[in-house]
Amino acid sequence: MNHTNRALFVFLTTLLCASPTTPAQSILGFTPASAQHENQIETKFKAIPSPDEERRQHRIFTSEPHVAGSPRNNELARYIADEWRHEGLEDVIIRRYDVYGSNPKHTSLEMVAPVHYRALLRELPIPGDPDSKNKSISPAWSGMSASGDVTAPVIYAHSGNPEDYDLLRKQGIDVKGKIVLVRYSNPYSYRGFKALTAQREGAAAILIYSDPAEDGYKKGPVVPKGPWGPEYHIQRGAITYDFMVPGDPQTPGWASVPGAKRIPIEEAVSVPKIMALPLSWHDAKPFLAHMDGPLAPADWQGGLPIKYHVGGGRVRAHLKIEMDNSIQPYYVVEGRIRGAELPDEWIVLGNHRDAWVFGAVDPSSGTASMMELTRALGALAKQGTRPRRTLVFCSWDGEEVGLTGSTEWGEQFADELRKKAVAYINVDSSTSGPNFHGQAVASLAPMLVETSRSLRDPSGKTLYEAWRESASRERREAGQSVEVTDANLADTRIGSGSDHTVFLNFVGMPVLGLQFDGPYGVYHSAYDDFFWMNHFGDPGYRYHTLMTQLWGVLALRLANSDLLPFDFAAYADNIRQFVTELANKNELVLRGSVARSQSEPATQPRDLVRAAAATATSEDNAGIDLSAVLTAINNFESAGKQLNASVTAKLATGSLDPKLADAINHGMMQVERNWLNPDGIPGRPWFKHILYGARFTYAHLELPGLTEAVEKQDWATAKQQAEILEHALETNTQLLIQLNSDLNGESTNASSDPEK
Ligand SMILES: [Zn+2]
Repeated sequence: MNHTNRALFVFLTTLLCASPTTPAQSILGFTPASAQHENQIETKFKAIPSPDEERRQHRIFTSEPHVAGSPRNNELARYIADEWRHEGLEDVIIRRYDVYGSNPKHTSLEMVAPVHYRALLRELPIPGDPDSKNKSISPAWSGMSASGDVTAPVIYAHSGNPEDYDLLRKQGIDVKGKIVLVRYSNPYSYRGFKALTAQREGAAAILIYSDPAEDGYKKGPVVPKGPWGPEYHIQRGAITYDFMVPGDPQTPGWASVPGAKRIPIEEAVSVPKIMALPLSWHDAKPFLAHMDGPLAPADWQGGLPIKYHVGGGRVRAHLKIEMDNSIQPYYVVEGRIRGAELPDEWIVLGNHRDAWVFGAVDPSSGTASMMELTRALGALAKQGTRPRRTLVFCSWDGEEVGLTGSTEWGEQFADELRKKAVAYINVDSSTSGPNFHGQAVASLAPMLVETSRSLRDPSGKTLYEAWRESASRERREAGQSVEVTDANLADTRIGSGSDHTVFLNFVGMPVLGLQFDGPYGVYHSAYDDFFWMNHFGDPGYRYHTLMTQLWGVLALRLANSDLLPFDFAAYADNIRQFVTELANKNELVLRGSVARSQSEPATQPRDLVRAAAATATSEDNAGIDLSAVLTAINNFESAGKQLNASVTAKLATGSLDPKLADAINHGMMQVERNWLNPDGIPGRPWFKHILYGARFTYAHLELPGLTEAVEKQDWATAKQQAEILEHALETNTQLLIQLNSDLNGESTNASSDPEK
């Protein structure tokens, strides 16, 4: 279909949809008339992104390595700024942050006994893939590794998780002063957690290698025949302890604008004190093959055709790492499409630009999707179709090092964001395959699911249908019995590991995260390149295009809605799940009822959550009473349901006073901010959200302060955290009750003036 025909088709379809027999599609947060208008805008918008343009942009971003802060990455920042200006974005600016740098000056590793082997630390070219010959591909290195020079025995420590060292200890093996060799996954944990664990165990250095059982030939055909990692692939990555505090380690909680105050490096808790280096299995194999000592347990055995031993001291290695830690500028590109009606309400959209090498998936697939997004929305704005609210676009730097660019930007504008921001939508890697994963804080999960119904997957199904199918399949394969429903389709367990972190955990903004994925064994390696994407990931760039459409429609709905599409009853239900799971997982006895039954009297006997396994002698000190929290959740849910009903009724009338809408929307924006505890979670003051957090492994951690206290059986802290949660629930319940009465014209606030 050419453009003229498509326009005619769209016009006719719109007429048909608007006819009395076919009611216009309703949209959460819109009056019927606004929804009809919104449908037209979205139809126009969705027609603009094209696979050819996605591919063209993708090639620009993947033509050279562009690691954080590098000249090429800075050149790409200027390119983005230029493109955005041409596309019609406003206030385009490149912001500079001076941060603690971490770049390799020298890395070498050799086995010195029982035989000599010098590790390659390089990825060999792949026939047919010209980019793999690029001379500027970096050798193996870990971001934020310590510098040093050590010769020591090598011990195989499986995944390098605490339980692995326990097992070594049982066998009489001490890793103090030694070099530990660990594999990446099984089960997955963030490499920074492996580094911290090794540091705590007193190891001199950690080598992290990619075992073929995890992302190589044991999974399927490897590059260039398939998507899995070949012999030489190296998974680079940072080991920053950004689970303690992300961003520039020397400016925790404030922005690294040039000249900012910096704490001494010795006080920076996120900087590792251990040397680290990633290895391909090609380089790991000689070490593993010569290892003596006890045979490693069955589940420690990997995919290489050798018997894995834990190491009895025969294998010795010499490791030398020299890092350049001078202060280095990172650049964040910012641009916006100013809202036509509500310019001081922002929808923030972001993607990181920096890549370990070419970053075809991570992050350049997302960058290509973002460039098509700004082109399409810029084109609409030029035609006079502006969003009601402002869209702010950001290209982050240094995500890979410690979520650095987004963290510094978020810290710089935290106060303004808390006043103006509606939500943040993150796209890191947009595409490594066809399976959609959507993450959202629970209040936005319903609108994400609803939006997926209005998009077409390349398979011909709606994105919603494709999403449900892949989610069902994945749950089946993971052995999970939970059936997929609309209520649990979106992932509402949000950990860390990407640029949404500062917005959710520090600023208190609702966040969404979007990704298509599939078989992908070249993460953070030089083989994550244009060749890989065009052969395996998304050869037709159709999922890149769909990502642009989805990202844009979500942004437009948030930007154009009459009343923001938050569902706080859904939020309450999620929080109740979190509390119930906390009780179950920790073998706490859940006495009384946490069921939602409305028939239960409010004055039922106190619901008790107690530690069955608690060792404390006094019952008063063992366990915690969560009855007040559960009651507070029920009240928050009731208020959320009433507000939902009032919003639906009000929107259906089709008339909405703008000042009233403004008051309701600002009230709804405040809900997420109210989940922040200014003191942060115990031991990690930067992380302020009381519902969402991350473990040191990066895994999601619900009710972080409360959960960690319960797991430690620190009941005094648990009680305090439960009270903080209860108080926040009460604050938000009162807020929703107020909004509900405002909306129904029952109060003296926003709607008191009958002239409005
Ligand atoms: Zn990424």
